[in-house]
Amino acid sequence: MKACAAQRKLDLAPLLGYVIAHELAHLLLGPSSHSSHGVMRDPWSGKELLAAEQRGLSFLSSEKKRLQITLTARTLAVLNGAVSPQSLPIANVKTNSAAAMK
Ligand SMILES: [Zn+2]
Repeated sequence: MKACAAQRKLDLAPLLGYVIAHELAHLLLGPSSHSSHGVMRDPWSGKELLAAEQRGLSFLSSEKKRLQITLTARTLAVLNGAVSPQSLPIANVKTNSAAAMK
């Protein structure tokens, strides 16, 4: 990713933040949660890279809702004592952050 950012003369810091957001979303939404644009696109196009550098990349509305629902359900399950935080399943995700930069 560092080489990709340097090649395109992009600031690495915001790109890293969005890569982390992308990977964290996979933990909640699962491995088949890519979309046609935005944070969850894979791989990011030049449009996503530029938006990320300008701190303007976002999730789709449907992704935001799914993330909120998943987080709320998990939080309630833990607060109600139904499950322990350690027992919550995390989606089986193969992490390949470099793929997001191709
Ligand atoms: Zn992905």
